[in-house]
Amino acid sequence: MEKFLSLVPVENFEKKYARDISADRYFGFPVEPILRAEEKLLSAAERSVAYFSMEYGLSTNTYNVFSSSQPPSPKNLSTHHNVFSNLRAIDYYISLKTNHRLDLPIYSGGLGVLAGDTLKSAADRGVSLAAIGILWNKGYFKQNFWFKDGQIPEENDWDPYSYPGLVPLKTRIEIPLRKETIYLRLWKYFVYNFEKTHVIPLILLDSNIEENHGFTKTLTNQLYRSDNADWKILQRILLGIGGMKALEKLGYKINTYHLNEGHAALAYVEKAKKTPTAEINSLKEHFAYTCHTPVAAGHDRFQKKVVQEILHDEEFTILKKFGQDPDNPELINLTQHAMNASAHINAVAKKHGEVTRAQFPEHRDRILSITNGVHTHTWVSEAVATVLDKYKNEIGEWRKNPTLLRNALALKDNASFRGEIWNAHQENKERLCLFLKNWKMDPQVFTIAWARRIAGYKRPSLLLQDVTRLLDIAKRIGPIQILFAGKAHPQDDLGFTYVNEMLSTIDSLENARDLLRVMMLENYDTYFGKLLSSSVDVWLNNPLPPFEASGTSGMKAILNGVLQLSTLDGWVVEAAEKNIGWIFGWEHHGEAAGDERNLRLREDSSLLYEMLEKVVMLYYQTNSKGNLNPDSDWVTKMIHAISEGGYFNTDRMVGEYQKNIWGI
Ligand SMILES: *Cc1c(COP(=O)(O)O)cnc(C)c1O
Repeated sequence: MEKFLSLVPVENFEKKYARDISADRYFGFPVEPILRAEEKLLSAAERSVAYFSMEYGLSTNTYNVFSSSQPPSPKNLSTHHNVFSNLRAIDYYISLKTNHRLDLPIYSGGLGVLAGDTLKSAADRGVSLAAIGILWNKGYFKQNFWFKDGQIPEENDWDPYSYPGLVPLKTRIEIPLRKETIYLRLWKYFVYNFEKTHVIPLILLDSNIEENHGFTKTLTNQLYRSDNADWKILQRILLGIGGMKALEKLGYKINTYHLNEGHAALAYVEKAKKTPTAEINSLKEHFAYTCHTPVAAGHDRFQKKVVQEILHDEEFTILKKFGQDPDNPELINLTQHAMNASAHINAVAKKHGEVTRAQFPEHRDRILSITNGVHTHTWVSEAVATVLDKYKNEIGEWRKNPTLLRNALALKDNASFRGEIWNAHQENKERLCLFLKNWKMDPQVFTIAWARRIAGYKRPSLLLQDVTRLLDIAKRIGPIQILFAGKAHPQDDLGFTYVNEMLSTIDSLENARDLLRVMMLENYDTYFGKLLSSSVDVWLNNPLPPFEASGTSGMKAILNGVLQLSTLDGWVVEAAEKNIGWIFGWEHHGEAAGDERNLRLREDSSLLYEMLEKVVMLYYQTNSKGNLNPDSDWVTKMIHAISEGGYFNTDRMVGEYQKNIWGI
């Protein structure tokens, strides 16, 4: 126990945590891997990586769930969700009841979920890695569909002190700024691998402590809150400078500092300050940067005037040197800074690499494309996993090596495999329909979902552009069920407008209930992400090309044999020829990104309906009221989809990071 507490100095251990942490158990998991991982990070002989990210989505409620001797705090449970459907009478009286543990509320969407999946795969591969993030005391935000009046955001009032697996440390660090010193407490969470033999420590920074005064305490309240101008730059200072100081304080010997998005770019400033002049030129070799943003407007920029008032001259000078905005002498640009200060740069899909190289011609030779993935163990459903396990002789140990999922393709003509994969899908879909039973969802009816962050370029309402055409397809070919979910950033007025527009279109379909059942679920999170992406028939992905750098939710879907109806963008470009579904819509060619505001809703929705008609037709030829046509092309596509899961996973992605960036 002493050894554990010397490596992980838990605050208030005796009073609060002694029941859940013993010499050999950590919230029900083995302690030994923690000791080993911590010792490796302290050793200069190991090539260790530090991974910085503003957000992490870890699905702590569905994968590697920690247990606790204490009853869960009601604040850390997600208990009910409102629904907005075209069956208003039900929506008013009934909400969806779940009683699942809230996922650690320190993420907003795909960027965070990718960071979480990266840690899990790094753990699976036994990489010595420490992750740095922020403990968001009020989460991102909670979405309410109160009174069916659009989205009403609320603070997420969760309790980190009783969250299983998360512990506050006695360790404090300080960031001396021009006008004040900010104090941070460190927390730790441990991400275990599938076999529970290795862990990745996640260090979370927290400014909500006694040592700070009022405003400073609230800096780590809400992720991406932007209603105060200083908030944004201060949060980036906490992550970059604070993160680097935390690594130093913990004594970790790091070989590569990996910046997931430009938010953490100031880590370089802190490191450069302490590097002897003779070594400064090779410092870049130790920095890596993953760019997720395909549009120039998406990069973080700050007024020099503002930054200069916060940072000391020494820091500001380094920042100016690397982070000068190319178009405006008054601005600091964190993307520019991260690119200039990192020897290793990667985009998150092949297409995104092309667009990024065109945007940053001076760095083009260094920009790699490493396509994103998802963590197989987290996102594959039990029903599908059971079938894959049964065919282990043909597929191999896919749990240990997800690449082996490719072998599923060889079973394409195996009649029993085809039937069992369909049945596994049907089992998932029946569970979903049971969950939604008050809305009379039917497992024999074609079901399609769109679920992700509500952002303009993702075109959340494309499917609802022309409900007359949608109804016409349902009338002529067969009934359709549609599920929507997603949050709009509270300060994104356009996002609000989308939600309102969708809710009123759904309302207008009340009389069409027999043909079209449309539901929008409140508070999309990783729990719903898994439920939906593993259970519907078709996953709709309709971003405006080329603005979806990668996208990952479709990768969760293919792992479960859920087919893709998608525009040609992000990861889908690499899977377009793989027979995993259907491609439609406007295509982007060339390198210039174009105008994000020209959403092409009319043309692309028309092409969407055209394709949807074929999809629904094939569906009802495949499944006619529960009678399966096992030879259908639909089932072939499902097997192609699962087999592509062998490529679009974070195990392969982290392998590429190891080889091409981290040198391990
Ligand atoms: C996977 C996931 C995302 C990412 O979805 P995209 O399709 O890549 O936008 C966002 N939010 C949650 C909760 C997810 O699970």
